[in-house]
Amino acid sequence: DAARNGKQRIHYYETGEDEAHLQRISMIESLRKVLLEGGKGELFLVYQPKLSINDKQYIKTEALIRWRREDNTFISPEVFVNLAEEASLIVDLTNWVVRGVLEQVRQWHSDGLFIGAAINVSAQDLASSHFETFISETCAGVGVSPSYITIEITERDIMHDEASVVMSLRSLSRMGFVIAIDDYGIGQSSLSKLKGLPVDEIKLDKSFIMHLDESPKDQLIVKSTIELAHGLGFEVVAEGVENEASLEILKQYHCDQLQGYYFSKPIAAEAVSEWHKDHVENNTITGSVGYDQR
Ligand code: C2E
Ligand code: MG
Ligand code: MG
Ligand code: MG
Repeated sequence: DAARNGKQRIHYYETGEDEAHLQRISMIESLRKVLLEGGKGELFLVYQPKLSINDKQYIKTEALIRWRREDNTFISPEVFVNLAEEASLIVDLTNWVVRGVLEQVRQWHSDGLFIGAAINVSAQDLASSHFETFISETCAGVGVSPSYITIEITERDIMHDEASVVMSLRSLSRMGFVIAIDDYGIGQSSLSKLKGLPVDEIKLDKSFIMHLDESPKDQLIVKSTIELAHGLGFEVVAEGVENEASLEILKQYHCDQLQGYYFSKPIAAEAVSEWHKDHVENNTITGSVGYDQR
């Protein structure tokens, strides 16, 4: 009896693993299908405003992908972007994002709203030689200047696959795209390692920012990273600003751009237009952000 129970336990355990494995395969297959069918109404983009301290009339956003499946369940991008990377679907996914974002930016510009957007890319995108051509041709096709588009790559990814990624960043930078290092501070790199790269801004990982007001250690890390980054000529973006106390601290430290739930969650493109009208055209941006010029 005991032996049988033992066997059963093992059997259940294996079934559990098999199930997780099958679930991943089925998720990859449906993502592949959705991408083949141009998003199929299941993929869509939301945009989170990024406030610039020095240039109050111009807002940037970050495009973030969402997947709502047929059965109305949402899958986190952290899950399916990783799957896409493992299953070599990331280039197709990124191309879908690039097309959607550039079409949206063109739409904002033709509505008279000069809003920029950041696109998250992975090392695999940059390692393929087609990415620069694809994004620059898409920009030219819709008539959007690359200077409105930021390319975000994580610190982890940039340290990973150096040579081809760095080459790609150089040509993107020469074309006029803004280059940002995402999730900075949790990887293995140091700012001195970034100094030779064509990097315009670093985004401090939200784990340092979310509890900034309560954590003297995070304050020390953030303050010294901002100073060092400025000394090396990088702009600094804080992501994960959730309350006014953290905002005040970041103002004191002369952080250049701010992003977080305190200002806005990721929202639909139409809501960004409204947000732009409320906060920029009516100048209430200075009400909540109110920076002194550096
Ligand atoms: P990320 O690029 O670092 O994006 C920031 C994440 O933090 C987003 O989560 C955003 O919704 C969230 N966030 C923003 N402000 C706050 C805040 O104040 N508090 C908290 N707690 N969270 C905040 P999201 O949209 O779930 O995306 C997660 C990650 O998935 C992204 O991290 C990015 O690595 C990846 N991702 C999302 N969209 C894309 C995409 O189009 N392409 C690629 N390659 N990756 C993407
Ligand atoms: Mg990002
Ligand atoms: Mg991040
Ligand atoms: Mg990230």
